[in-house]
Amino acid sequence: MWTDPGRPLPGGPQGVPSPDMTTSTPDTGAPRRAEDGERVIETFDPRSGALLGVVPDQDEATVRAAIGTARAAAGSWALLDHRERSRHLLAVRDRMLDRAEELVGLICAETGKQRAEAVSTELMVVCEMIEWCARNVEKVLRPRSVSTGTLAHKKAWVRYEPLGVVGVISPWNYPFTLSMTPVVSALFAGNTVVLKPSEVTPTVGLAIGELFADDVWPGIVQVVTGGGATGEALVRGGVDKVVFTGSVRTGRKVMAAAAESLTPVLLELGGKDPMIVCADADLDRAAKGAVWGAFQNSGQTCMSVERVYVDRSVHDEFVDRVVSGASRIRQDAAGGDIGSMTFAPQVDTVRRHLADATAKGARILLGGEPIDRPGLWFPPTVVVDVDHTMELMTEETFGPVMAIMAVDGPEEAIKLANDSPYGLNSSVWSSDPALADSIANRLRAGNVCINDCLVSYGVPALPFGGVKQSGIGRVHGEEGLREFSQTKSVLASRVQLPREPWWFPVPKGMDNLGIRSLRLRFGTSARSRLRGLRPRS
Ligand code: NAD
Repeated sequence: MWTDPGRPLPGGPQGVPSPDMTTSTPDTGAPRRAEDGERVIETFDPRSGALLGVVPDQDEATVRAAIGTARAAAGSWALLDHRERSRHLLAVRDRMLDRAEELVGLICAETGKQRAEAVSTELMVVCEMIEWCARNVEKVLRPRSVSTGTLAHKKAWVRYEPLGVVGVISPWNYPFTLSMTPVVSALFAGNTVVLKPSEVTPTVGLAIGELFADDVWPGIVQVVTGGGATGEALVRGGVDKVVFTGSVRTGRKVMAAAAESLTPVLLELGGKDPMIVCADADLDRAAKGAVWGAFQNSGQTCMSVERVYVDRSVHDEFVDRVVSGASRIRQDAAGGDIGSMTFAPQVDTVRRHLADATAKGARILLGGEPIDRPGLWFPPTVVVDVDHTMELMTEETFGPVMAIMAVDGPEEAIKLANDSPYGLNSSVWSSDPALADSIANRLRAGNVCINDCLVSYGVPALPFGGVKQSGIGRVHGEEGLREFSQTKSVLASRVQLPREPWWFPVPKGMDNLGIRSLRLRFGTSARSRLRGLRPRS
């Protein structure tokens, strides 16, 4: 229930800017009780602090009802074949394109990002992903026959069946992409969905619900709005899988709650992505790539370039190029390269990490303080003389900050890059493909880009996900579609015998025959196999 910002709010402030708009918007995402007793959540435009509207903070009963509606729709949706489902989902994409202007406007208003960012990283990525699924779902999820090994009279195959109802919980940084990716994957695999968007960006979630309105197929996507309690109710509500994208801290809670009912989880969590710049890298490209990778979406990307390890021989030149590139980034609401930050507590994290780093000897070469204007504006910030005693190098900052550290060669760079509880994306920059490849192979991360960064998420054929504390499971690609399927193994007889040789009563001499057969079939040397021909050995 999206309330028009022009309408009087139920018992709350009318979007009055907070006294300190440089560092916070009013309580975005914080539930409160309206005059009529309904619990609501207000959302604000982080570029100005203006109130956007209110949505209900929905309770457990509402979540359970939504799961019930999705469950009722699951049977008929699962019965469609892949082609029919693809046809419906391609129609949703058409609807999305028809409403592109409105969606981009909503995304920018709730996140503070720029229009071009919203078009490329939200709409385009989702269009690509739908295209890939429509083209590949049948091939990826069709039954697959497998070898039966020694049991030559048997045949076997693997079926991929829908799970049922998938609960999707999404964050605020890419409210469209990170909701649509799991929602659409689940639907292509024949499931229905209950989506709980972030309380910071709920209206984008509600707009997603409208894209899947009942004329597409009744009930297949339900949207519930609210904060952590609503998310928890979804996890505990009896869904068949939970797909959670968000922080490590909440991911742990989701997994613990899901464990009580052994509900499977797919977790896409935080990152502290390293970039390694070798001595032989194309420095101009590497510096431009770093500037984009660290500052696009104001650094609020799970796979932003947060730590850069640069060979000492090129460190100063790289830093000069980065500072020069970053200082030219245009940042204003009217349309620049990047927009504002989205969530006030995230600005506090950025400031805390910078304070900790400077207290321990780091130097800020650019930015470092919020911009003095209403809204959550924080400039591109470049920090040097950093080390791993600083939070800036060990904890997710999730803001427009690039920390650059000089290293003595690839070995030290790899060691430092892997010295992290996270392992989401990473990048290696070198003009020697063999060197780049060997470094990439040794990075403990779910994704690696060579002479590029971040873009791997834009390739829907590439499975995306983290290792270590960055997550469990994958979205995108074949693995991504199978995450939303139940694997069923089927075995039947190619030739039906009156009885199987191992059934009761066990024939006399079966043990000896068994040992001989094992030697004959699995002995790796001729001697071993020959022993299988002897009656006793
Ligand atoms: P968050 O963990 O605070 O919240 C994410 C979602 O979880 C929200 O919808 C929230 O309402 C819900 N939630 C909160 N408590 C819950 C609970 N107890 N049970 C169930 N749901 C609950 O994360 P955020 O601040 O919205 O997003 C930023 C984080 O997301 C960053 O750490 C970022 O790295 C991560 N992220 C990861 C990926 C990825 O693909 N790996 C992508 C984007 C963002």
